[in-house]
Amino acid sequence: MQQTVTCGDCGKGQVTSVTGPFEATFREGDYAIADAEYQKCDSCGRVYFTKEQLDCLQKKAAAAARAAQGLLTPQEIKAFRCQYELTQTDLESMLGVSAKSVVRWEKGTVFQNAALDKFLRVLIDNPDLVEELRPSRSKEHPVAKPARKVLPALEHERPPAKVTLGERRELAAAA
Ligand SMILES: [Zn+2]
Repeated sequence: MQQTVTCGDCGKGQVTSVTGPFEATFREGDYAIADAEYQKCDSCGRVYFTKEQLDCLQKKAAAAARAAQGLLTPQEIKAFRCQYELTQTDLESMLGVSAKSVVRWEKGTVFQNAALDKFLRVLIDNPDLVEELRPSRSKEHPVAKPARKVLPALEHERPPAKVTLGERRELAAAA
């Protein structure tokens, strides 16, 4: 969708897509995203984000924040769950967390807290404990997991307004 847009700020320059380093603030931490995509005015340098670019940057910043905190990644959590054929609901029950918690962690924008992360690591290292905590329903009827519906990757669990991510103006708003 490369289209020519006049900068809403200076009214002179053309706003075009750029890929490059961008510093994003996410949950009070600053993270340098090496390959952020955004829009930039070629005259005044004003930076804009489309909705998609902002979502993408948020995901990258979330991944960087997770890595900085040493938390298990969404992929690691999912791999553990699949290895033991646990549903997301099973794991939520085992951890004693509210419904949809695991769903959100695996989507990546909501983080498990440090205590739960430690608990998950203990489970990963102790198969016997997994079996002990496995919900009985799942013990009695080990069923093949149904094919999962692929959810849109950029669905927000929380409004993006809660995430401080540099300039948040969108092209549509600036036009
Ligand atoms: Zn401009």
